[in-house]
Amino acid sequence: MIPYGRQSIDDEDIRAVTEVLRSDWLTTGPAVDRFERAVADYCGEGLHGVAVNSGTAALHAAMAGIGVEQGDEVIVPPMTFAATANCVVYRGARPVFVDVEPDTLLIDPEKVRKRITPWTKAVIGVDYTGHPCDWDALRALADEHGLKLVADACHALGAEYRGRRAGTLADVSVFSFHPVKHIATGEGGMCLTADEETARRMRTFRNHGITTDARERAERGGWFYEMRELGFNYRLPDILCALGASQMNRLDGWLARRREIAARYGEAFADMPGVTLPTVREDVLPAWHIYVLRVNPEAGSPDRAEVFRGLRERGLGVNVHYIPVHLHPWYRRRLGTSEGLCPVAEEAYERILTIPLFPAMSDSDVDTIIAAVRETIGQV
Ligand SMILES: *Cc1c(COP(=O)(O)O)cnc(C)c1O
Repeated sequence: MIPYGRQSIDDEDIRAVTEVLRSDWLTTGPAVDRFERAVADYCGEGLHGVAVNSGTAALHAAMAGIGVEQGDEVIVPPMTFAATANCVVYRGARPVFVDVEPDTLLIDPEKVRKRITPWTKAVIGVDYTGHPCDWDALRALADEHGLKLVADACHALGAEYRGRRAGTLADVSVFSFHPVKHIATGEGGMCLTADEETARRMRTFRNHGITTDARERAERGGWFYEMRELGFNYRLPDILCALGASQMNRLDGWLARRREIAARYGEAFADMPGVTLPTVREDVLPAWHIYVLRVNPEAGSPDRAEVFRGLRERGLGVNVHYIPVHLHPWYRRRLGTSEGLCPVAEEAYERILTIPLFPAMSDSDVDTIIAAVRETIGQV
C-alpha cells in the first residue's frame, strides 16, 4: 500500500536524536531553542517560535496567546481537521463555521464579513492542502473589526502568498510535525508570532502557566516560580526538537519534490473531464501537503465511494480530507450544527479524494498512481 503521506528519516536525523539522548537535557533544554530558531528563521524575519507537543496544542496555545476567552466567538472554516474548531471550544468560546470558496475550498472572506458580531474575537484561516488563504482580504477585515488572525498552517510549511511565507501571514501561525506533515517529530507543533508579548503568553501556557521553566531556574540557581495563568504541560522534549531541527535541513528539497509530483499529477489528469484538479491562485506558491482531486460523476466518473474503493484495491492509501467539522456528531449535539450550514463544503465533501503525495515517492510510484487513477475513473 502506498500511503497518502509519510515521513523521511535519515542517519543524520538519528545522529541528532542520539546526541540529545546522551546529553543533560531531554526536555526544556537547548535543542528547543535551536528548533524554534530554525523554523522561525526559515519562515521570516523577527518571528518568535514556541514549540509544543502537537499541532493541536499549538492551536490551543494560539487561542490563549491572543486572549480567546469564554463567551468569545471565533470564525473557522469547516473544511479542516476537527482540532481547528476544538481549540476554540477548549477555551469555552464558540466556533462559528463559515463556508469556503467553491474552487480553492479555503475560507471565503466575503462570508466571514457576514458572520462578524460584537463577540467575534478572531478568525482562524486554514491553508488547506498547503495553499494559503487570501490573507490580505482577511487582514483588511480583521483591521476593520479589531479581530485577531490565526493561521492553521499545519499544511503550509514553506508555502508563499504574495512573496511572503506561511508563518508571517497572521498574528499567530500554527504548524504540526505529525509524520504525514512537511517535517516530522512524531508528535509536535509550533506557534510563530512576531509579537513578543503573545509569544511570552504562549510559552507560559505550554508550561502550566508558570513564569519560569526548569532551565531558567537552573541557570539562575533559584527555586522560585509563580503560576499566574492556567496552563498545560504542552512542552516538546529536546529529543523531538533535535529531530525537527535536523529535518528542517531537508525541507527545501522536500518542498521541491512535492511541487514536482503535484505538477506531474496536474499534467496527467488535465484531460479527464471526470476529475477536477486543485485550483492554484496566481499569487500563491503552495506547499502541497496533500493532493485533493474532485470526482465529477456527471462527467463520466464513478462516484467517490466507488473511486475510493477501486484505488484502495489497487494499493493506493487514498483518503478523504475532510468530513466537514460541523457535521461531526459532537458538534451537531453540542452546537446544533447540521447540513445546510456550509453548503459549499458539504457539496465538495461528496467529491474529494486525497491521493498519495510525499517526497520519498519514486517516479515509478507516481506512474503507478497516475495509471491507477485513470483506470479507476475509466478515462484512460
Ligand atoms: C495535522 C493538523 C492539525 C493537528 O495537528 P496534530 O499535530 O495532529 O495535533 C490541525 N489542523 C490541521 C489542518 C492539520 O492538518
